[in-house]
Amino acid sequence: MDFATPITSMTDPFGRDITYLRVSVTDRCDFRCTYCMAENMVFLPKKDLLTLEELDRLCSVFIEKGVRKLRLTGGEPLVRKNVMHLFRQLSRHLTSGALDELTLTTNGSQLARYATELADCGVRRINISLDTLDPDKFHAITRWGNLSRVLEGIDAAMAAGLKVKLNAVALKGFNDAEIPDLMRWAHGRGMDLTLIETMPMGEIDADRTDQYLPLSLLRADLERQFTLTDIPFRTGGPARYVDVAETGGRVGFITPMTHNFCESCNRVRLTCTGTLFMCLGQEDAADLRAPLRRSEGNELISQAIDEAIGRKPKGHDFVIDRRTKRPAVSRHMSVTGG
Ligand code: SAM
Repeated sequence: MDFATPITSMTDPFGRDITYLRVSVTDRCDFRCTYCMAENMVFLPKKDLLTLEELDRLCSVFIEKGVRKLRLTGGEPLVRKNVMHLFRQLSRHLTSGALDELTLTTNGSQLARYATELADCGVRRINISLDTLDPDKFHAITRWGNLSRVLEGIDAAMAAGLKVKLNAVALKGFNDAEIPDLMRWAHGRGMDLTLIETMPMGEIDADRTDQYLPLSLLRADLERQFTLTDIPFRTGGPARYVDVAETGGRVGFITPMTHNFCESCNRVRLTCTGTLFMCLGQEDAADLRAPLRRSEGNELISQAIDEAIGRKPKGHDFVIDRRTKRPAVSRHMSVTGG
């Protein structure tokens, strides 16, 4: 099949073209980051997961309908059994020219093992989540993580020729003072750094009000030490970038709380059970598993996707304050994929 021209393109009611699919291939993770998960998380029974073949089929329908960028995430995507088989299968869409980019977001713990194979599957750029370079703090925030393994993973990714971007969630009183050092470290190694505001998703053991740090404050703090210049650079995601004169690197700001970026949203998110979320910050979803399993052809899936895109909401309404006790959405980030 010729994927170069989509049969139908996906445009939502607000005129936004949907060209970016993020897929959470598992809700499981080998870390328990305190802002993301409770320590005793209950994960989906394995039998509820779509098979890798089913995930491939759904992704391929989205590509046929105009998706140009595909990101596998989770949970931790690299802990899903045989996930490299899925990367390998999906890489055919890069070869055919139907897909511009196949990528992933990872905590880096398994990268030493998989970096070369990912590069071989056509992955060129990856996002690695890293909130601190202090081994004790790293262990405290991830509960189960080991910093040296992640650093080995970063080295392996770079050695395999992958372009690495670091993602750090800005957490008040935890890593705010360390951000300048994290930035110098990243830029010194040729990596961009993106800072993310913590979002109210799912019940965690901590109070999010204590963790929440508006990036406007962090940016003002950085501007006291560095010369930041806004630039139009985009990677197809929600980050807004600045150049840092002193380091020669770039910093991105993802600000779902202080600056809603929904007007340019080009994304939808598929979970490992085949549920499609049209917005990270809303509960509405569409089931694609039933149409997937109901017929061997893709017509029913395609119809279900069109219906879902037709009700993509204008945006999210995240709030973190002392009066708002419940998270804006009940599911954890690991379900929809960050
Ligand atoms: N396991 C992979 C990783 O660590 O990158 C992929 C999934 S993880 C859920 C994706 C990103 O979401 C990570 O950068 C993580 O820090 C971020 N994240 C998780 N919960 C969040 C929250 N409540 N607010 C903001 N970012 C969050």
